[in-house]
Amino acid sequence: MAPNSTVTTTLTASELSPRESKILPEVTYRTLWGNFKTPLIWPNIIGIISVHVITIIGFVTFPYFQHKSTFAWCFVTGWAGGFGVTAGAHRLWTHKSYKAKLPLRILLIICYAIAGQNRLREWVRDHRVHHKFSESDADPHNANRGFFFAHVGWLMMRKHPEVLRKGKSIDCSDLFEDSVVVFFEKFFWPMKLFWCFIFPTMIPYFCWNETFYWCVMSCIARYVCGLNFTWLVNSAAHMFGNKPYDRKIQPVENLMVSILAMGEGWHNYHHTFPWDYKAAELGNYKVNATTLLLDLFAKIGWAYDLKSPSKQLIQQVIENHGDGTRRD
Ligand SMILES: [Zn+2]
Ligand SMILES: [Zn+2]
Repeated sequence: MAPNSTVTTTLTASELSPRESKILPEVTYRTLWGNFKTPLIWPNIIGIISVHVITIIGFVTFPYFQHKSTFAWCFVTGWAGGFGVTAGAHRLWTHKSYKAKLPLRILLIICYAIAGQNRLREWVRDHRVHHKFSESDADPHNANRGFFFAHVGWLMMRKHPEVLRKGKSIDCSDLFEDSVVVFFEKFFWPMKLFWCFIFPTMIPYFCWNETFYWCVMSCIARYVCGLNFTWLVNSAAHMFGNKPYDRKIQPVENLMVSILAMGEGWHNYHHTFPWDYKAAELGNYKVNATTLLLDLFAKIGWAYDLKSPSKQLIQQVIENHGDGTRRD
């Protein structure tokens, strides 16, 4: 579709949830860039801006040298949350790229709760739609609508009707075959509040007498950093980098995102082989911390049936579809 075309999109009431149908009839959806209008979600906008302002104040004023334990604690909880998102929500529950025994699934769901992101079923559905309809109106964080939209803007406004429509065609019933997910979804808010905010605040307060002020500030800053590192996969890793595996798609290989997002920046590869548990072909453990941890869990048998394509298949794909930039 040409960028300047104006096509009005409407959804029938039967295609919408009751909550969506309250909002959508008032809205004109005209496709595509520039002409797209959608209602903003002000509570989300205010919330997102507020936590970012607090984070910036925290970064500037934090007494790093006097409060080393609290600073280190941010890394511990940050990595735990990151692992829950990358190894749990992404590689296990969305892509089923490996299997996990009960203790690992419990650990992953706690880590995912520490990250404080959306309900798991929303996360998985959004990500499956993203893979199936990348860079189209049905992609929740369509990178064609610019860096800001792909990064965070999409969380500040109602979804495009195509996202809702195509989202309904995505089967996520497999998620609820996992009792750990069922439990988490049932107790989503208590789990999120406790693991993302209360627990990370309590530990410095009780274990090394951190002030309540810095407990809260550091907790929010860690939460906001984790969100941004995840969002970079949708923004930067769809814009800045090379395409050794499929030159015709938009996702790219991005080293910086891989470092920050624990190995999720090898995104051209990941969109080509979404079922590979490593989410990367190359790259050592330094830039794929999630794979390092999964390999450790595989050693003790908690992670198993780890899927990966053969070297020949990857080579074929590189030769037939890549942009010629693959380096060892
Ligand atoms: Zn992507
Ligand atoms: Zn994915």
